[in-house]
Amino acid sequence: MKSRSCLLCVVVVFAGWLSGCSTKGDGHLHYGPIDESARRPAGLTGENLFMPMDLATPTDRRLGSGAPGPAYWQQRVDYDIDCRVDTENDAISASERITYHNNSPHRLDYMWVQLEQNLFNPESLGAKSHAPGGILHGRLTFEGGDHVESITAGGRDLEYHVYDTLARVELPEPIEPGGTFEFEIAWGFEIPPYYRRMGVEEVEDGKIFELAQWFPQVCNYDDVHGWNTLPYLGRGEFYTNYGTYNVNITVPATYTVTATGLLQNESEVLTPTVRDRLAEAMASDEPVWIVSPDEVGDASLRPRTDGEMTWRFRAEDVRTFAFAASDAFQWDACKADVTDRDGSVRAVRVQSLYPKEAEAWSADHEDGGSTRTVKHSIEFYSDFVYPYPYPVMTNVNGPEDGMEYPMIVYCAGRKNVRGMQGVTDHEVGHSWFPMIVNTDERRHVWMDEGFNTFINIYSRADLYGKPIDFERHKRQTIEVARSKNRQPIALPPDRMWNRWVGNLGYRKTAMGLVLLRELVLGHERFDTAFGEYVERWVFKSPQPDDFFRSMEDSAGMDLGWFWKEWFYGTGGVDFAVTDARLAEDGESGYVTLKNLGEVVLPVPYRVTYADGTTEDHRLPVEAWASVNTWRAVFDAKGREIAKVEIDPEGLIPDMNLRNNVWKR
Ligand SMILES: [Zn+2]
Repeated sequence: MKSRSCLLCVVVVFAGWLSGCSTKGDGHLHYGPIDESARRPAGLTGENLFMPMDLATPTDRRLGSGAPGPAYWQQRVDYDIDCRVDTENDAISASERITYHNNSPHRLDYMWVQLEQNLFNPESLGAKSHAPGGILHGRLTFEGGDHVESITAGGRDLEYHVYDTLARVELPEPIEPGGTFEFEIAWGFEIPPYYRRMGVEEVEDGKIFELAQWFPQVCNYDDVHGWNTLPYLGRGEFYTNYGTYNVNITVPATYTVTATGLLQNESEVLTPTVRDRLAEAMASDEPVWIVSPDEVGDASLRPRTDGEMTWRFRAEDVRTFAFAASDAFQWDACKADVTDRDGSVRAVRVQSLYPKEAEAWSADHEDGGSTRTVKHSIEFYSDFVYPYPYPVMTNVNGPEDGMEYPMIVYCAGRKNVRGMQGVTDHEVGHSWFPMIVNTDERRHVWMDEGFNTFINIYSRADLYGKPIDFERHKRQTIEVARSKNRQPIALPPDRMWNRWVGNLGYRKTAMGLVLLRELVLGHERFDTAFGEYVERWVFKSPQPDDFFRSMEDSAGMDLGWFWKEWFYGTGGVDFAVTDARLAEDGESGYVTLKNLGEVVLPVPYRVTYADGTTEDHRLPVEAWASVNTWRAVFDAKGREIAKVEIDPEGLIPDMNLRNNVWKR
């Protein structure tokens, strides 16, 4: 940040205003607030943006500082799943034992379970309410959905009622605070052809299955909403509990399976050669072939090729579980170095599994290679946000465009290196938001997509060795503000206009955090506060108000005006400079700044003097509390002013750049 020196000027402005030395209508030039009858900056509901923000009342669970309190609790759910993939008929048959830990101080009389596969029934809420171009791509002909065979506990059938993607399960007896409840579900479904998040694809060497949103999962019961029962409509992703997963996946012996977690039976499903190569990869900074392009389908790299094999995975402290299986995978891996908080360095396995069609992914690609990208992302975000806590990260290329799960991501893009890098970096970035900071994605898309898109800006700058680039974020922020169909970031994603999910949930949110870091708070204050937010909520579930409170408390700045206008408001930004001149004392300079938009921000401006020298100044946001025109003063040392430019570094998504420069 270059414009720190201007704070002194601000003090001068305020001192002058408060002491009444500025005059009006007396022929002298007046500085400070101009035209006090002008409208005040207003938020969405017409209230003044500087009104104290109405946040949720703090409790012992969620403190006024934005930190989790001594009484914070969250539920825990463990899953033991057996599933079989019918690769001929593209179907899953499975059973699970769910162990529910009631860590709440409440007695639970019933339970809600997600049956997300029901989205793929053509009569589902999601199928009926989503526009073409949405999650289902307008394809409503596939007759999918969960076939629940039984829900039982202790050998007894439990009564349950299915409502679209939800099932209400009646409990045989209440689960007391601190109690646990075990029950079993048996189910199956036909795997949808490609929609989003999962599907099947035929490639030259075989088939690729990507599974997600595939098992009945208990809804999150929390202290804010009780049971979170927003249905799965396709766009809103997850809000689930952490737990331990033991998942056994049975596939034909010619298939390779990769999944959330660590493989528990390597000696059964991998040959000694493959295991040796994996060990070699854990000592290498460059990708090592585990299954090279020439070895796809090679029987000598398999314990056997007839019948079926069961791959056993275990994952701890994850919020869901996904897996991919194929007989067409090439496979390469290396290590990423993660420095933990105690300074010790830990090797994480980073790997990619992809068909030969994915040329940009190849470990042999000159300037590509998926695993190199994964390694960069894991190392960069571990340093920039929080040490990656898991032992592995896998990138899979198959039918899905781009989707994140714990320790595994699905990314598309096969020929274009930049495309592959962009999607991969984004999906791996989700390991931090929402896999580590577990937010309610079904309500607050911005807390995961937006935060992730924000950190992606810095990761890409680092990857390519270039300055941060947020032009697209700026452009998309402006596009919504200019539209007749303006909506706020805070809208749940399934209620948002399809086209705006990217603009608002991803780009405008990221743009807002860039403004906070680069303009409002500065790097030091922002990084401390944002880091504190992450530290406080690692493996916990913050709500929006916890984020707002935590940022203000840690940065030591009232940002209510910003949260209101940026996350709940729909206004656009338009600052203008209309005049600049030397004052009568022949020493001071004046510049007249106007806020013609609906959003307030500090306004950085650069003064160029006739002698060619330049100075950066800044009008603080407080100047806009009551008026929309301000004449700011600075020490020009008697130099003639040749030019004044608002926002010379191009940080602000200003809708009208034509009024941002004043020239003599
Ligand atoms: Zn994303």
